[in-house]
Amino acid sequence: VPTIRSTIGGLALVPLAAILLASGCAFDGPSARADEEIVVVTTVAPLTSLVAAVVGDHAEVRGIVPEGVNSHTFEPSPSVAETLAGADLVFLNGLALEEPTLAMAEANVEDGTEIVSLGDLTLDEDDYLYDFSFPEEAGRPNPHLWVNPPMALVYADIVRQRMAELDPAHRDDYQANHDALAADIRALDEAMRTSLATVAPDDRKLLTYHDAYAYFARDYGWEVVGAIQMADFQEPSPGEVARLIDQVRTEGLPAIFGSEVFPSPVLEHIGREAGVRYIDVLRDDDLPGEPGDREHSLLELLRRNYVVITEASGGDASALESLDLQLDVADRATYPQ
Ligand SMILES: [Zn+2]
Repeated sequence: VPTIRSTIGGLALVPLAAILLASGCAFDGPSARADEEIVVVTTVAPLTSLVAAVVGDHAEVRGIVPEGVNSHTFEPSPSVAETLAGADLVFLNGLALEEPTLAMAEANVEDGTEIVSLGDLTLDEDDYLYDFSFPEEAGRPNPHLWVNPPMALVYADIVRQRMAELDPAHRDDYQANHDALAADIRALDEAMRTSLATVAPDDRKLLTYHDAYAYFARDYGWEVVGAIQMADFQEPSPGEVARLIDQVRTEGLPAIFGSEVFPSPVLEHIGREAGVRYIDVLRDDDLPGEPGDREHSLLELLRRNYVVITEASGGDASALESLDLQLDVADRATYPQ
C-alpha cells in the first residue's frame, strides 16, 4: 500500500490519518474489509462450484480436494493446514466424507472461524441412507447429497445464510447470487423429472461403480440395484464379480455405469460377461471442462450425468439437453489440480 511507505520518511501517523480521513477514507469499516478479501475454503469441486456461485465477487473461494482424486480416501497434504488457517469460513460436505480434512480444519482454523458441514445440516439422522459402499455397520452414511437437486438447494441456502452472517454488508448480493443459482437448480430439477419420466418404469434401475445416487434414486423414483465399489474402496473379489454378473443378467439392466474418476476394468468385464452396455462417463467429483470454463460447474456435471443415465436407459433426454442454465459467469474459485 503506497501510503504506508510515506511513514518511512518520518511522517507522523496523525498527519497521515488526517490526510486519509480528509480524502474520505477510514481505517476501519467497509474499506478495510475490501482490502482484505474474505477467504472461504471448501473441499470437493462440486461444493466449491456451488459455494463460488453464491459468493460471487465478494470472497476468494479455495477448494482443497483436487478434481479426479477419490474424495472418500483423500488425505490433505500438510500445506492444506496453511490454507485452512487463512480461512474466514470453511464449508465441508460432512456426513463423514472428509474426516481427515475436518480434523485438520479443527486443528488449524483461527478462533471464530466456523466450519460448516452442509450435509449434516441438510439431513436428519433418520433420513441417512446406508447401502452398498456405505453399509450401516461402518457407521458412515452415503454422503452424496449434492447430486440430488432438492438437497443442493438446501446447501445453497445454507451458504447464503452463512455468507450473509459473515459479511452483512453484502447480504443482498449473496441473496441475489443464491436466487440465480436456485433458479437454475429448480430448472434442472424440472428437466430431470421430464427426461427421467420418459424411461420405462422397469428400466429405472441403476448399477454404478461409485455409489453416488442413493438420495437421487429415492427422490426421483429410481432403484439403485448395486454399486460395484466396495465399502473399503478396493476392487471386488472374483466371487463378488461373478455375483454381480448374475445380478446384471437377472435384473435385465439396460446399461451399467462407470465413472471418469474411477476407470474400472472390472466393470467393463462385468458388462461384457453380462452382455450389457458399459458406459464409463459419469462424473463424480470431477467437473466438466477446466477451471474458468462456463461448463466447469456442478450444474453441468449434473445435467451431463442425467443425460447419460436417461439415454442409456432408453429415455429421451431432450429436456435436459435443451435446458438453458442462466448462470453464465465462470466461478472465480481456485481448484488445486
Ligand atoms: Zn463420491
